[in-house]
Amino acid sequence: MDRRHLLRNSLALGGVLGMGGCAGQSAPPATAPAAKTASTVLQMDRPPVLAPVRAHADRFFDFKVCLRPFRTKGPRLDVEQIGDALVVHNYGHGGSGWSLSWGSAEMAVEKALSGSPKEVAVIGSGIIGLTSAITAQRAGAQVTIYTRELLPRTRSVRANGSWTPDSRIALAGEAPANFGDTWEQMARISWKNFRPYIGMAGNPIAFADHYYLTDAPRGTPQPVDATVPPLPPPTWTGAPTSGEDFAKYSDRIRDITPYPQQLEADINPFPVKYASRTTNMFFNFTEYGHLLTTEFFARGGKIVMRDFHSPSELGHLPQKVVINCPGFAARDWWQDKAMVPVRGQTGWLIPQPEVNYGLTYRNVQILSKSDGIMVIALENGELKGYNNSNESVNRVESENAVKVIDDLFARFPVSRA
Ligand SMILES: Cc1cc2nc3c(=O)[nH]c(=O)nc-3n(C[C@H](O)[C@H](O)[C@H](O)COP(=O)(O)OP(=O)(O)OC[C@H]3O[C@@H](n4cnc5c(N)ncnc54)[C@H](O)[C@@H]3O)c2cc1C
Repeated sequence: MDRRHLLRNSLALGGVLGMGGCAGQSAPPATAPAAKTASTVLQMDRPPVLAPVRAHADRFFDFKVCLRPFRTKGPRLDVEQIGDALVVHNYGHGGSGWSLSWGSAEMAVEKALSGSPKEVAVIGSGIIGLTSAITAQRAGAQVTIYTRELLPRTRSVRANGSWTPDSRIALAGEAPANFGDTWEQMARISWKNFRPYIGMAGNPIAFADHYYLTDAPRGTPQPVDATVPPLPPPTWTGAPTSGEDFAKYSDRIRDITPYPQQLEADINPFPVKYASRTTNMFFNFTEYGHLLTTEFFARGGKIVMRDFHSPSELGHLPQKVVINCPGFAARDWWQDKAMVPVRGQTGWLIPQPEVNYGLTYRNVQILSKSDGIMVIALENGELKGYNNSNESVNRVESENAVKVIDDLFARFPVSRA
């Protein structure tokens, strides 16, 4: 029995050695550097034995739908005066809010604290509001959060939750010329801020290997699934028609987010012709959210449950400096026409702690997290869900997606030896 066969059998039998679960990145770029040949891949870098995913529709125990707060011009971080309140905006982070949160918070807080106020109000307690609030506290301010929902009910916790700092962050044609520099700063500050959470009990933030599997060589057209309907035409001028229309900046941070490396045939553990692998960072929302909320209260933070209906209400708050983090709600509340909903749905399979990797295959991505195995359909890439504000669950979407993974694992030969 050769090594590849052994690996396959071990996978089919549920053997496991240390790996981690992750997902969330778009398909690896075609321009990735040439792969190492198997002979040069050291033993410790070869894929370990992988536990199989029990990818069956009857193991779904939850579905979540979320609207990415996509802003065609990139996140809004400007300042405006409302009554006698200085309002610093911090919203519109598209599919990158978890990833860019600390960097964006630092930029917003710098503006908010420019006049050295003692007290600051933060609107919203999604990931952008919470990190803004804590950043202001760490700089010495007393902070009150005003919010309609607490973190567990916000759109933030309906996300995927991987390090995806340039996912649907702006349209290339609409982002300001210097936004690439701002983005890089945000990404690098955030990356540094995640560091203290690595290795903490409960793994609030962790790293895991992610496999990209393809039937044809990466960067060439893949076999088309005839059951998938074609993309509907864009509904207005300026709408993106391809993934190329989204601003992409990842090349600026290849030192911290390297390209995936191709796995040569003899070390590819999957029953699929082409595989590449990278290691990605991801967020376990429950543990990470708990730590953030605990820190906020430990630093004397207060939360007031409140629903705002017009910007002028901010002028009547007792705090005269406000950091505004309403997420997608900014479209209606602030009449921000640059905000476009990008719907995303995740299905959740019963957790399998022994599965500690993620994979992407035939437009389906899975990510094993502490609270379940997330399954997400990616068909049409970043255009999927564009300008779709329907927040109802479409169970069939998740069931079709899990079938792809079910079929993949069913292809592993079972050994009785
Ligand atoms: C399917 C999906 C997958 C994603 N995957 C990733 C990923 O892998 N990595 C990543 O980095 N990002 C990802 N994202 C994006 C990320 O989730 C968002 O960018 C981020 O959650 C936005 O956070 P937020 O705090 O701005 O908004 P929200 O979480 O929506 O929080 C807004 C807050 O404002 C409050 N609020 C709004 N309006 C009012 C009002 N009128 N009065 C009072 N309070 C108000 C709300 O109650 C809430 O507390 C994903 C998103 C989706 C949908």
